[in-house]
Amino acid sequence: MALIRESENEAFRTFLKKRDTEVVDKIVSKINQTVEPLIDCTQCGACCKGLMINVTDSESEDISSHLKMKKEDFIEKYIETSAGGMMVMNTIPCHFLNDSKCTIYENRFKECRDFPHLHKPNFNDRIFGTLIHYAICPIIFNVIEQLKIETKFFKEKEQ
Ligand code: SF4
Ligand code: SF4
Repeated sequence: MALIRESENEAFRTFLKKRDTEVVDKIVSKINQTVEPLIDCTQCGACCKGLMINVTDSESEDISSHLKMKKEDFIEKYIETSAGGMMVMNTIPCHFLNDSKCTIYENRFKECRDFPHLHKPNFNDRIFGTLIHYAICPIIFNVIEQLKIETKFFKEKEQ
């Protein structure tokens, strides 16, 4: 993955860490509510090509049922156990991605629904992981760029 604005984003990460976490969370949440509805994930699928997806037992139950498969067959075909003992999808890109579209979109995993996690509190704790996907996820890119403006990052840089 091409890294873009790497040094600027590293400086921004340091800048944000000095800001009040709750204030940062409020701004991120507000920007995200504007940006997210403007981007159609069903036309993108970039995260599906790079994320390791954790799967819960109940999700394997639900999705195997949706696919009209036995749960054991679903697990055999699509799941492996990570080094940390978690159930994870056994391929990256995801098996269910077809031509940049999720073929189980309405039934996709919680982890897929939650990405890029910008609606959650404690943004500063996740900023390193968020910036890793800056170049591939248009939601992250636009939220981060707007966040730089709203926190006056560029003004501080000039001083
Ligand atoms: S289940 Fe769908 S949304 Fe989730 S990673 Fe796979 S293709 Fe993407
Ligand atoms: S990379 Fe971002 S914009 Fe693209 S599908 Fe994933 S969450 Fe949506």
